[in-house]
Parts: sequence; structure tokens; C-alpha cells
Amino acid sequence: MKKILLLLFLLFFIYIVIINKEQVVNKTITNDNYSINYPYFSNSNINSYILSYLNKHINTKDYDKLIIDYDYDNKTKTLTIYKTTYKGNIINEKSKTFKISKNNIYEIEVTKNTTKEYNFNLNNNINSKYIALTFDDGPSINTSRVIDILNKYNARATFFITGKNIKGKEEVLRKMSSSNMEIANHTYNHLLLTKYSIEKIEEEIDKTSNQIFDVVGFYPSLLRPSYGAVNKKVKQASNMPIIIWDVDTLDWKYKNSKRIYNTVINKAKDGDIVLMHDIYKSTVNSLDLIIPELINNGYNLVTVSELFNYKNIKLEKGKVYGFAKN
Ligand code: ZN
Repeated sequence: MKKILLLLFLLFFIYIVIINKEQVVNKTITNDNYSINYPYFSNSNINSYILSYLNKHINTKDYDKLIIDYDYDNKTKTLTIYKTTYKGNIINEKSKTFKISKNNIYEIEVTKNTTKEYNFNLNNNINSKYIALTFDDGPSINTSRVIDILNKYNARATFFITGKNIKGKEEVLRKMSSSNMEIANHTYNHLLLTKYSIEKIEEEIDKTSNQIFDVVGFYPSLLRPSYGAVNKKVKQASNMPIIIWDVDTLDWKYKNSKRIYNTVINKAKDGDIVLMHDIYKSTVNSLDLIIPELINNGYNLVTVSELFNYKNIKLEKGKVYGFAKN
């Protein structure tokens, strides 16, 4: 019996160390000019190939901003690297697919360049199309960059703040406020509120509202319960309108900026509320892809409160809203 156990353990060990060794680790390099997500393989040959590939693109300097992201399919061992460059109003996209074998990597496909010229007419309100981007679970170390990117495009968004994350990030909250972003309530401990008593739910909400008040000098006027979970008790306990969403980027799951971009561009329409999380670097990276395209498609990026204002929908406390359409 012991021998069998030992053998099983050995097989498991071999599986982890040898067969499964190609596990890919996500790495990030970020500065003002580029944001790069790339895969790190356990094989040094493959890694040096990828690094020199990245270096080549970083060093062209033929951009104001460069974004690189990737998809890796562990089953087919294919790696696709997406490259997006920004220069003035021109956005260029290119991708390359590689096949990974044991200790080698080779190109199998290059997509053709797509170049788009964007028209950043920032006050093109004539279209009256509005989308509200929302960011949950912060503030985090990445939130300040989210605010910078929004500011760069003169866009606004709503941040649903988790109270327990405020401490040490007060400056970020003040930056949100001075950048005219909307600061809203995402409860204190990020609990599944539907499982708790009304008193506990109220405490979770109030604690966050009070902390926000202490830092920026006003109370939030919108609530998003963690996980978007709402029942009768939550509605009763909420002294604010309850805002959920109708476009879910699943950014927490895929952590891939190209994928987040595709979801938003394909799904988000006038009056939609888009769910994202400002705690992931890939989400931050996706914004430089998403925001210029939405603006170019005639959307105004506004806060949730602004969205409902523009749509002439009056928000009521304790009611649940997932979009603003009349
Ligand atoms: Zn959340």
C-alpha cells in the first residue's frame, strides 16, 4: 500500500515538475510610453526569443504609446502577441501568432496591419450617445493610472470603492474627486450581503460612505453591492439607488487587455453600464485601447449619475438599475 502511495506521489511530482513545467507566468513592464504584458516560460530559449522580440518593438520608438498583450493557449501551444501603437491620431494594430514546442518557438501567422485614424473631437455631444465605465474593488496601486488615462481622453467614469481599501490610498480618492470622477459605494468588506442581516448590511454601507466623506468631504450617492448581489434586505438597507451593470468585461477572469477591449467594443451601446475592476494591470492597459475607439464611435464617456441625468431617468433609493435606456 505504502509503495503504491509513494508511486502515486512520484507520478504527481513528475507531472508537476516535468510535464506541467511549461506553466506560463504573466509579466508586466509599464512606463509612460508603454504597457507590456508578456508570458514568461520556463524554457530560457523561448524566453530570450520573446524578450528580443519585445525589445525590437519597444526600441523602434515609432510611437507615442505602445501596448503589447498576449493570449496563450496551453492546449494548442499557440501564443498570440498583440501590438498596438499610438502616434498622434493614428492607431496601428498588429498581431503575430507563434507555435511553442518543447524548447523552441516559431512564427506561424502574422495578421495584416490595421491602421485607424481617430477623430478625437472630445465634445461631439451631437450624437448624444453615452456609456458609463465603472471600476470596482479599488482603490488599488493601479487606480491612479486609470484616472490618468481617463483624464488624457477627457473621459469620466465611476469608481465603486471598497471601504477597507481606502486606508493608505486617500490621495488616490482625492485625485478622483479633483478629476471629476464619480466616487461611489461598494461596501466595506466586500461581503455577499444577501447572507447578512439588515443591520450588518447597513453597517457595511455606512462605514464606507463615512470614510469617503472623511477623505473627500462628500457622501457617495450610489451603491453597488459586492458581486451585484441584491435581495429584499439589501434594497431595504440601501439609502441609495443600487447600480449594477449590463456589460460584464469578465476582466477578473481573463486578465487580458485585448479580450476586455473586444467585449466592450462589441457589446457596449448607448445607455450601457460597463463593469471593470481597477485592480488589474490588464484592465488598465485595455483602457488605452477602449476609450479612443468609443470616443471615435461617437460615445461620450460619463459617470453613472451623469448617464441617468442625460437619459432623464430619476434614480430612486433602494431600486436596482443595470443600464439607462428610455
Ligand atoms: Zn467587487
